Amino acid sequence: MRYFPLFADLRGRRVLVVGGGEVAERKVRLLLEAGARIEVVAHALVAHELSAWAGDRPSPIFPPAGEGRGEGCVSWLARDFDESQLDGATLVVAATSDAAVNERVASAARARHLLCNVVDDAERSSFIVPAIVDRSPLVIAISSGGVAPVLARLARERIEVLFDESFGVLARLLADWRGRIKRALPDVGARRRFYERVVRGRVAELVRSRQPHAAGQEIERQLALPSQPATGSVVIVGAGPGDPGLLTLNALRALQEADVILHDRLVSGAVLGLARRDAERISVGKAAGAHSVPQSRIHELLVEHALAGRRVVRLKGGDPFVFGRGGEELEVLAQHGIPFEVVPGITAAIGCAGYAGIPLTHRDHAQSVRFVTAHCGESVDTLDWASLAQPRQTVALYMGVAALGRIAERLLAHGREAATPVAIVENGTRPDQRVTLTTLAALDDVARRGAVQSPALLIVGEVAALAAQLHWFGDAPRPWEALRSAA
Ligand code: SAH
Repeated sequence: MRYFPLFADLRGRRVLVVGGGEVAERKVRLLLEAGARIEVVAHALVAHELSAWAGDRPSPIFPPAGEGRGEGCVSWLARDFDESQLDGATLVVAATSDAAVNERVASAARARHLLCNVVDDAERSSFIVPAIVDRSPLVIAISSGGVAPVLARLARERIEVLFDESFGVLARLLADWRGRIKRALPDVGARRRFYERVVRGRVAELVRSRQPHAAGQEIERQLALPSQPATGSVVIVGAGPGDPGLLTLNALRALQEADVILHDRLVSGAVLGLARRDAERISVGKAAGAHSVPQSRIHELLVEHALAGRRVVRLKGGDPFVFGRGGEELEVLAQHGIPFEVVPGITAAIGCAGYAGIPLTHRDHAQSVRFVTAHCGESVDTLDWASLAQPRQTVALYMGVAALGRIAERLLAHGREAATPVAIVENGTRPDQRVTLTTLAALDDVARRGAVQSPALLIVGEVAALAAQLHWFGDAPRPWEALRSAA
């Protein structure tokens, strides 16, 4: 290890910062948060905030040390750097744009055995400042020793995702409760198990759902009944249409915390690949027309696993509340008093349209968009075709593959023009995405030739034609008429 990691207590301590520009300002901001007494040496404070922190005038005398707690303070010396300014400093930062000045600061600090950071110059520095994820009091510091800042940034981005803002709130809550927890559970082992349960379980969920008061009550409840089994819970997660890049950060976190994942057949392998390795995966695959696991059995499984104290993720294609029966599943959970969260997902219409280059609304072509399901004869018959056939709107049809012919026939019968463009997006957002461009008039022909397979989304409206020009993902769209005449 080239650098020794440490967290320094700088409250009330003098830190000398040489330089008055933005680079200095960035360092001063962090030092202020750590409660340091900062002395800035610079002829002018160019950076806006820095000059605001220091006040308008140079202040050659340090303000009183204060209690050495909380916010730090800044004073400004408007002169050249000289060695005597290092007297009594704990740390030194050289942040000027003049390499010779930085070098003078660094060597003067070295001579006095003071740690000095020369910003963006690891060679001249005797300490470097890590990238951080600040969820105070939880702070995660990352360093590549100055040799691969890109990797350090990547690591930081990933950690940012895993530890969202709520971790800071959770850490502060635990700090508040620390004394009481220690008194209630004097045994170290019991206390550790209790904390494990708190940070992985219901308390953390309540903090994430922005219910800090209820989270405190839950800690209290669990303290009163320390041997009670853990409360299970369900996160109902929208997995999006396939591309794992379309998952939300919340979905990713839920997948990485899950004990059990109940997933639909439509959920792509790439998405499942992001789940915690040792999570149990249960396919409750549903193909149109062939329900391999009946909905009532899915309800039973959800309840069983949650009541056994597990963190269950119910993973659904697209968005759980758009033709996903998510509402029914939540009703069952509510009846059993099982806590739940919902993570919305990108629904197929949004995903497929985006990846096919079809803007669902467009000032010239469509002022509204409708999401409609047409999965069986019955649902086709109950739709309001007169309103669906109105011009200047886009209709996105889910589960329509088996009913293509009937859909076209109804729309035509209710006055939609025969030349209205239609796009059929199969396996949208996935590597094997295929887009077929046709018209309402030809849709029946497409259906009779069995040219498209589920899962496919139908987009009816003038905007569909824009795919020919705006496609960007995978193969170019196939124009049906050209395909037919070539055959
Ligand atoms: N809750 C889901 C929809 C479930 S209904 C959502 O919000 O997207 C299943 C239908 O969604 C399929 O029959 C198909 O019409 C559509 N669908 C889902 N994923 C798709 C994909 N990757 N490409 C095309 N259509 C898709």
